Amino acid sequence: MRGDNDQLASFWMPFTANRAYKANPRQLVSASGMYYRSSDGREILDGTAGLWCSNAGHCRPEIAEAIAKAASTLDFAPTFQLGHPLPFELAQRVAALMPDGLDRIFFTNSGSESVDSALKIALAIQRAKGQGTRTRLIGRERGYHGTGFGGITVGGLVNNRRVFSTLPGADHLRHTHDIGRNAFARGFPRHGAELADDLQRLVDLHGAETIAAVIVEPMAGSTGVLVPPVGYLQRLREICDRNGILLIFDEVITAFGRVGAPTASEAWGVTPDIITMAKGLTNAAVPMGAVAVKRELHDAVIDSVPGGIELFHGYTYSGHPLASAAGLATLDLYARDGLFDRANDLAAYWEDAAHGLKGRRHVIDIRTIGLVAGIELEPRPGAPTARAMELFHAAFDNGLLVRATGDIIALSPPLIVEKAQIDEMFGKLAELLETID
Ligand code: PMP
Repeated sequence: MRGDNDQLASFWMPFTANRAYKANPRQLVSASGMYYRSSDGREILDGTAGLWCSNAGHCRPEIAEAIAKAASTLDFAPTFQLGHPLPFELAQRVAALMPDGLDRIFFTNSGSESVDSALKIALAIQRAKGQGTRTRLIGRERGYHGTGFGGITVGGLVNNRRVFSTLPGADHLRHTHDIGRNAFARGFPRHGAELADDLQRLVDLHGAETIAAVIVEPMAGSTGVLVPPVGYLQRLREICDRNGILLIFDEVITAFGRVGAPTASEAWGVTPDIITMAKGLTNAAVPMGAVAVKRELHDAVIDSVPGGIELFHGYTYSGHPLASAAGLATLDLYARDGLFDRANDLAAYWEDAAHGLKGRRHVIDIRTIGLVAGIELEPRPGAPTARAMELFHAAFDNGLLVRATGDIIALSPPLIVEKAQIDEMFGKLAELLETID
């Protein structure tokens, strides 16, 4: 027999307990603005902008029209040794949003591809600068950098190491999650800047001349909303500068307004050498990612291979017309509606609303920055992650989409969210926390 009569059987779902999901499937069938609609006809308030990505809200007509126009004008054209106008235009627009100097843009199709591209670009830069012994990559415990082999290698998730193994030649800083010292801190936690000195320890251990780059999320999102301690990112920057190490910020979540500015780098005043992004770049309407590189580092690579292909890397779909069109329309919307400023303006209200959950059953920490919140629950004895999963399901069944990651409930709504919707999100969570086990 070909195929399978069970409608749900063939799709092997990513990052999903397939058996449990398929026994009780919950599906979304349409979306508009702040809301999804479920297959049983209910409105679901989107507390997570999809997967941290639909920053302008769903199904914006301006984006849909731009995609449709591109699809019927130039559905595809290569960008290897050839080109078409849209990615050039988009690159210039993205460059204008990056911190000073990071104005060379490489296009990918996802966050994972952006990370693996950034790591390869870092190695190419070191080689171009005559520093070819610098091949070691440094990541961080609890880092999430997507699913490519580079990304899982610098990432800090034990499941990747257990199941797939990772590439040799990497090392890791400790994570900055410290409920003992920082529980219920507002904004940047006070304690932990000294954890950046782990990089100096690794320099002393391995030798600076072996280290190419360090990559961190300015705010670690997927592993539980870990906001950097005051001064931590600055200290990393200083240690990189002293030791010739490139600093990569993985801004796949934080770029495009999530923390009230085009990038966390700008919002928090620390400029890396390379920035990865994806998600909000196209409002997630078409997959696309990008890597921004400091101009002089880009130039070092370009100058190192006169007359040849300077970076032996790329994707069939780099700068795809539909994605580029979606990106341009998205950036127009962000600018027209002032959505990055809006996120900034709402951040204090958001923080207060989130901290309203302090003292509720099971809640052991609350962390917010920009329009992101992490509500950490006490793990259920013998069943870690079960409590957050139960709350995720209860919220969905009550018309609210949140994200469960470990024992943390993460929220990151579209930047068009209204105050009343913020109240609804945390109000519902407050009620549901009383009902779960
Ligand atoms: N880096 C970070 C910081 C992310 O949060 C994610 C996705 N959540 C990725 C990389 C991977 O992105 P993608 O799923 O688009 O490959």
